[in-house]
Amino acid sequence: MASVETVTGPIDADELGTTLIHEHLIYRDEAVVFHWPHLSPNAPDLENVTPPDYMTPALDCARAVMERGVKTLCEPTGMFGGRDVEFSREVSEKSGLQVVPCTGIYTYEYLPTFFVARDADAMADLFVHDIEEGIRGTGIKAAFIKCAADEPGVTENIEKVHRATARASVRTGAPIMAHSRPANETAIRQIEIFQEEGVDLSRVQIAHTGDTDDLDYIERVLDKGVLVGMDRYGLELFLPTERRNPTVTALLERGYADRMFLSQDYCATLDWYPPEVLEQLDASGASKGWSMTLVFDEVIPALREAGMTDAQLETMMVSNPRRWLAG
Ligand SMILES: [Zn+2]
Repeated sequence: MASVETVTGPIDADELGTTLIHEHLIYRDEAVVFHWPHLSPNAPDLENVTPPDYMTPALDCARAVMERGVKTLCEPTGMFGGRDVEFSREVSEKSGLQVVPCTGIYTYEYLPTFFVARDADAMADLFVHDIEEGIRGTGIKAAFIKCAADEPGVTENIEKVHRATARASVRTGAPIMAHSRPANETAIRQIEIFQEEGVDLSRVQIAHTGDTDDLDYIERVLDKGVLVGMDRYGLELFLPTERRNPTVTALLERGYADRMFLSQDYCATLDWYPPEVLEQLDASGASKGWSMTLVFDEVIPALREAGMTDAQLETMMVSNPRRWLAG
């Protein structure tokens, strides 16, 4: 029986159960909290300042999804997102939610000179370290590798990250989650690189494919044999729910239940914007209803109404995560 690494140790793949494939328990730039540690939940009390409360929102999310039957959450926060597996472990221990951690670099272009001056294999070695030896001395092992391509496309730096991701996947068998941007069809080149490196494409997930309702593009991606994330429900600025749902329904009708994930890419906390900008975004409808439970509260009922069967739902929420993670 295949096992899957979580922040509290390996579990049997059959114990994964209903899984949210793409949600963040914490999201903030690690360099900012390194230099201004009063912002960090794990900081020593250097300045006698109470850091923001990251734990309560994360626990609220964990408990809310568990109330809706979720057993496992994949936490795709890598480098530059402030990956914090000890924080995730605390959330997991306090809530009972199983959390699956990753390794990888989340960048659209920038890389530290450390990586610019080294080759893809040197980067792959670090990903393999997290998968085989564990993350930052915690003993917690990464279960998948995260990479990203966005508006700048697959530049030289982004290609290096993808080749490193691919080589680490080939060396360890770990699956890949690749953030993509359908607006400039990044997935096509991302998949091409994985293919060139000999990755098993059935273990590749193209995240954020659901940001478009261009079925022709989505089928060109699916034709390669990958899985796709319909995983940003609530992020109306990329595509509103009323256009996401018919896309999923059409793909179900075309027989792609075994290739899709439903998720929200929600962040229990997010440091990108000051509170007043977040409020404006919310008020403008850019992230209307965005939460870690939107899929259960609104999306699944609407998809059922449109004809989704229980078996198709089970495939997307249980079987696909298990197959992607465990092979
Ligand atoms: Zn994300």
